[in-house]
Amino acid sequence: MKFTFLGTGTSTGVPEIGCRCEVCTSRDTRDKRMRTSALVEVDGKRIIIDCGPDFRYQMLSNRIAWIDAVLITHEHYDHVGGLDDIRPLGREKDLQIYAEENVIEAIKTRMPYAFGANKYPGVPQLDLFSIANQSFNIFGIPVIPIRLMHGRLPILGFRIGHMAYLSDLTSIPEEEFEKLQNLDVLVIEALKKGTHPSHEGLEEALIQIERIKPKAAYLIHMSHRIGLHAVVDRELDSHIHLAYDGLSIEF
Ligand SMILES: [Zn+2]
Ligand SMILES: [Zn+2]
Ligand SMILES: [Zn+2]
Repeated sequence: MKFTFLGTGTSTGVPEIGCRCEVCTSRDTRDKRMRTSALVEVDGKRIIIDCGPDFRYQMLSNRIAWIDAVLITHEHYDHVGGLDDIRPLGREKDLQIYAEENVIEAIKTRMPYAFGANKYPGVPQLDLFSIANQSFNIFGIPVIPIRLMHGRLPILGFRIGHMAYLSDLTSIPEEEFEKLQNLDVLVIEALKKGTHPSHEGLEEALIQIERIKPKAAYLIHMSHRIGLHAVVDRELDSHIHLAYDGLSIEF
């Protein structure tokens, strides 16, 4: 499996508009974070996780010319705001989008012109598949959803093979931990140092990593308050890394 971090930033991205802090003004490219999204390449298929407002530039900068499917964790703008930009990738075939029913409804409300009886010509051809917290397959590749609480909002993370992807969470329900055993790679949110009512902070992420015990962990969905990449990454145990945009790992 090859896993590419297309974006590793929180909803505002880093730098944050107007901010002059040391992270937002850093010249280290690893401190520039687009909205969180990832590409999973497995068995010759390409699955994108979340499709935020930086999707177009993420496809161009990573030279991605085709994808097979998109998994959506939840309906917040930073995770679905780029769905319209999928158009060039869906001309040959309808693109399969997998999300929970309430998320599908939110997508339809956000893009009324792309659904319904009299579609405007040229709209994105999105094939929406409703999923629940039950295993399913995409082109024969098993995907295990993982329930997460994002403040009071129930959302989904995903496990594919020995990789789990958990973005935007405050807690993982107790019964979900058994799905997180034997991981080679855990990708998990660490918004910033300190706590937040609807996101996981760095210290909380480290506690989850300690419990889940993946071989390696990569932190995502970071704000400028995480600190400088070069400084914070060095402070972490050797199997825990701050992810950065464009990083690819194979395992
Ligand atoms: Zn988010
Ligand atoms: Zn800043
Ligand atoms: Zn969110």
